[in-house]
Amino acid sequence: MRKLAVAAFGGNALLQSGQKGTIDEQEKNAFETSEKLMVLIREKNYNLVVTHGNGPQVGNLLLNNTAGNKLYGLPEMPLDICVAYSQGFIGYVIEQQLRNVLMEHDLDRDIITIITQVLVNKDDEAFNNPTKPIGPFYSKEEADKISVETGSVFREDPRGRGWRKVVASPRPLVINNKKSIEKIAREGTIVVAVGGGGIPVFYKQENKLQGIDAVIDKDLASALLASQINADKFFILTDVSKVCLNYNTPQEKTLDRMNIAEARRYLAEGHFAEGSMAPKIRAAIYFVEHSGKDAIITKTTKLGIDDGGTRIVMV
Ligand code: ADP
Ligand code: MG
Repeated sequence: MRKLAVAAFGGNALLQSGQKGTIDEQEKNAFETSEKLMVLIREKNYNLVVTHGNGPQVGNLLLNNTAGNKLYGLPEMPLDICVAYSQGFIGYVIEQQLRNVLMEHDLDRDIITIITQVLVNKDDEAFNNPTKPIGPFYSKEEADKISVETGSVFREDPRGRGWRKVVASPRPLVINNKKSIEKIAREGTIVVAVGGGGIPVFYKQENKLQGIDAVIDKDLASALLASQINADKFFILTDVSKVCLNYNTPQEKTLDRMNIAEARRYLAEGHFAEGSMAPKIRAAIYFVEHSGKDAIITKTTKLGIDDGGTRIVMV
């Protein structure tokens, strides 16, 4: 029986910083990323669930939203709807490009994107302290106006680019349809799920789900999915080969392996930047602790190479 892996892609896999975000660029990136996945599918013979971020794409969708509203009076869509759009769009691009790669390798596997809702708690303390900046930059005056009209919270960009809406990043609690995700993945279908960390939903009252303005961390949501579907391995694919201590300093040291106690200690010592590596380490710890299996943080070009990345283990 094939083993099951979850591979979580960072932003780079589809859209690199400096790129405009044309569909040609995104298709090319998705094709190249899919080629790297062949190691897991062909050589390591894994069943596979692919998860991905959506930062640049959902940012562009929010700009479309604003422009459509200003130019044509179209109703603006809330963030949960934009995340749903981005899951469909990115899932389609991955499905098509991964299929192109599979065909080149004479492989026939279905690839299915699942639009995924993820339950959060509306009493999560993150809702009292929105931190995640999203979408376009505004002037102070524009931001104040929108804030009065909609109740959205804006913060000044630390790099002086203007004011930006900030939303909460609550903890993911339950992945919707996780049983189906596990079932079809174990049947050999490649599943694309929890894009952008999932569509955040909450119980407005008993028996009533509703979307909410929030962005769930995609690494944490992927770790939750990986543990809930009993994955044998969790790959976090980003743009560095290994996790480092004293990152970007003369004392920098790459890590081949760390156990979760060490990972927690390094986190507390501040080795991993918030908003980039720290959530990946927390996600890896979560998966290892709940599954007893290993997590790997690396870049796609190092997949399948022994000691090609950083392995996070129980002890
Ligand atoms: P992704 O789009 O894959 O989520 P992020 O930019 O969020 O990518 O996170 C990856 C980045 O984390 C790397 O490019 C690196 O600059 C940064 N980083 C911060 N701390 C560390 C560390 N201790 N070791 C390695 N990379 C780190
Ligand atoms: Mg990230």
